[in-house]
Amino acid sequence: MRKQIAAANWKMNLTIQEAVSLTEELISKPRKLSVRQEVVLGVPFPYLTTIKNMLSGTEGIFISAQNCSDRKNGAYTGEVSTEMLQSIGVTHVIIGHSERREYFQENNALLSEKVNRCLQTGLKPIFCCGEPLAVRDSGTEYKYVETQLEEGLFHLDAIQLTGFIIAYEPIWAIGTGKTATSDQAQQMHAFIRKVMSTKYGSIVAESISVLYGGSVKASNAAELFSQLDVDGGLVGGASLVASEFSAIIDNLKK
Ligand code: PEP
Repeated sequence: MRKQIAAANWKMNLTIQEAVSLTEELISKPRKLSVRQEVVLGVPFPYLTTIKNMLSGTEGIFISAQNCSDRKNGAYTGEVSTEMLQSIGVTHVIIGHSERREYFQENNALLSEKVNRCLQTGLKPIFCCGEPLAVRDSGTEYKYVETQLEEGLFHLDAIQLTGFIIAYEPIWAIGTGKTATSDQAQQMHAFIRKVMSTKYGSIVAESISVLYGGSVKASNAAELFSQLDVDGGLVGGASLVASEFSAIIDNLKK
């Protein structure tokens, strides 16, 4: 059974003191995650070790970077390699968030290299896809997302994609307060699974967790997560408030 995942994306927010308080509050609530539920915290680079250490002894909560280099190692000033991340106990990396695609010109070719680096180092990529508003308005959102999947992931084999994590984040719903309806989310998630199934077969497609991202909050998580092909969420703003993110976790399918 595929994993149901609540993934936080703190982005470039919080001081270390705030990050520690948020984590303390989050893990202080007694919570029994089922075997198919996971929580992932997408933490800024400088805080990864501190937050990772705070999580020792808590089951089912993993730590993620928000980006990584596409290079293995060497003279690449300012870059952070997957080996560095792996060596400090990071388990996941958010790859291809729309903010990285838009503000840092990350394209599918580069992202496919980042995915490779993660897999070669034993890290789990959370591969983001999703269309801008103009694309949805023109009615070509399915083709757009399909191309992102083809160019970003289709060089991988079935074993590498088994248990993989994809986050569908319509750009028009990120940080805008405008959520896709649960129907819109379900339709795109089912389409993503169909694309993966056509290429890799239904067993692989059924094992992939497809998260929804875009203004997920405590108040809409139940409705979104109840959809058949929505396997949890990638959460920005609401993950910065412990009570909100806790309630989102509580709404994962059991
Ligand atoms: C995100 O950053 O991935 C995101 C979905 O942000 P928000 O929840 O704030 O829309």
